[in-house]
Amino acid sequence: MPVKVQAVEKPPLERIFGPGGWLARHHPRYEYRPAQLEMAEEVQSALENRRHLIVEAGTGIGKTLAYLVPVLLSGRRIVISTGTKNLQEQVFFKDLPFLKKLFPRVRATLMKGRQNYLCRQKLYDLERQPSLEGLEEVDLYSQIREWECRTETGDRAELQHLPDTSQLWSRIDARREACTGQKCPEFERCFITLMHQRAFESDVVIVNHHLFFADLALKQMEFSSLLPEYSAVIFDEAHEIEDVATQYFGLQISNYRLEELARDTEAILRWKALESPGVLAAVSELRHRASLFFDPFPSKEGRFSFDNRQEFLETHRAAYSALLNALVRLETELSRLKERPEEINNLASRAAELRQACEMMLESRDRNYVFWWERRGRGIFFEASPIDVSDILRERLFHTAECVILTSATLAVGGTFDFLKRRLGVEHAKERIFASHFDYSRQALLYTPLHLPDPRQPEFSLQAAEEVIQILKATRGRAFVLFTSHQQMREIYEIIRRRLRYPLLLQGTAPRTALLDRFRTTPNAVLLATSSFWQGVDVQGQQLSAVIIDRLPFAVPTDPVVAARIAQINADGGNAFVGYQIPNAVIALKQGFGRLIRSRQDRGLLAILDHRLVRKFYGKLFLDSLPDYARTTRLEDVRAFMREC
Ligand code: SF4
Repeated sequence: MPVKVQAVEKPPLERIFGPGGWLARHHPRYEYRPAQLEMAEEVQSALENRRHLIVEAGTGIGKTLAYLVPVLLSGRRIVISTGTKNLQEQVFFKDLPFLKKLFPRVRATLMKGRQNYLCRQKLYDLERQPSLEGLEEVDLYSQIREWECRTETGDRAELQHLPDTSQLWSRIDARREACTGQKCPEFERCFITLMHQRAFESDVVIVNHHLFFADLALKQMEFSSLLPEYSAVIFDEAHEIEDVATQYFGLQISNYRLEELARDTEAILRWKALESPGVLAAVSELRHRASLFFDPFPSKEGRFSFDNRQEFLETHRAAYSALLNALVRLETELSRLKERPEEINNLASRAAELRQACEMMLESRDRNYVFWWERRGRGIFFEASPIDVSDILRERLFHTAECVILTSATLAVGGTFDFLKRRLGVEHAKERIFASHFDYSRQALLYTPLHLPDPRQPEFSLQAAEEVIQILKATRGRAFVLFTSHQQMREIYEIIRRRLRYPLLLQGTAPRTALLDRFRTTPNAVLLATSSFWQGVDVQGQQLSAVIIDRLPFAVPTDPVVAARIAQINADGGNAFVGYQIPNAVIALKQGFGRLIRSRQDRGLLAILDHRLVRKFYGKLFLDSLPDYARTTRLEDVRAFMREC
């Protein structure tokens, strides 16, 4: 099916971005940024000439408008994929409505993963067969029931009081496993159907990387696609693609997924008033076998390699076979039911899928995958992750789509995209790097104390805590202190909390958004956090005046996926430290430091307590990849700089 083309009169980009242009007349904080205009021209040319483009757009050049305007001018359907839901919503609710003044006829759709949307059928089923727990859930149910009549999207983001981890929502969301598709009586009114229709009629479809790669992986499995046909895709925050693709081209099973199947089977029998002692016995057998199989796993939280699967199978062969048999039994009992509504067929297919996934997980010898398991609370997750996604992406994405544009503030290492291209399988692309719009040499000071021990030494924490205290006194709080490990964060927090009078906020003591809100509104606050705060956080102004990082952010080499990647590169004759670990850490450090300067008025201090940045041979690559901050190794310079902030 050809992608529709809508004739659009194209004003030259200069007349939009240039001095005295449309943006100058309409944007409240307009500044002429030559790099923004140039980036827009590159995006336009890539779209017109149907070729791939990689653009690193330094902070502050206004990259979102630089790609949105050419997209809207193109008259073709284009997908924009962001790393986070936050950016996705910002593009849809802020940037696009602003540009509507210039492009009034443009139609856009926001698409999220299915679990964000309400399943009408499940909501009605729950009413017919109420099994709500407690008054709170009854109350929440009636709020959702009332909202369902007026919402146009069915997106849970509209339900402001719905807790993130709502049990009720997980029973009524539109996830694929429990959906009967066209056989559902609500199919025509279904929020997923309506979202698809809107997307098919739109010029711009805004998704996030999770949805995009879930879709690409579904296509691989020959299921129908979630996204409409498109002529180009733009990935913003493209530095996250490798991780997200790894997740979606992998396979996962867990004790939760087995329990979900058991629970859904019971619920559907109840809702459909089907009596089947055979199915119920199979469900209880499945629960029993699942717990015998998963119980031997240690209770320690974390991610662990599962390369001893053969040994594991030898010891636990009986429990494993019994689990597979329980899944077969459930599938058989479901297929035996005389009355088999679509929901029952669905359950039988899920049982079969889970059995195949278990077999692949425990028995596959595929050397392109790393097998590992993780414990989170009571959940045990088995994962098979592709060690290298470049072949998959080359074939499925870069060879298939006419135009793929990758952009982010952090893609280049040492002035080139070689690392990114290698990891993602990009063969041909135009490449551009646009420096930031900020004057970093005046706005930021990079401080690296040289007197601290190597961060790998046990005495590091104590001395680093002392240094953090001195820095925070100079900055009067107003800082993010970012750590590469939870343990280091807690150790340093325990020391500094007794010595400092500034309000300290610690990751894990409240939800992320609540902590950030408190940070923004509490004078002189200090936030201590780990890697999840390194990305996508935007605090403008003096409230954030320093970012302190404990050590160079090398990925944990014992993490099973990282370890497998290192082993593969070394086995192929490469040097994983130089070719993988260092470039990855460079990008992570650029992200972490990127939190600080968010406008031309911001000034602030960047501190890294790891002298390897200056003393080791690879420190130069880090420094060459960072903007040209003013630099010092003396605390007196920090104090003098902060007196002017
Ligand atoms: S089509 Fe699927 S998601 Fe939509 S209402 Fe029906 S069962 Fe729910």
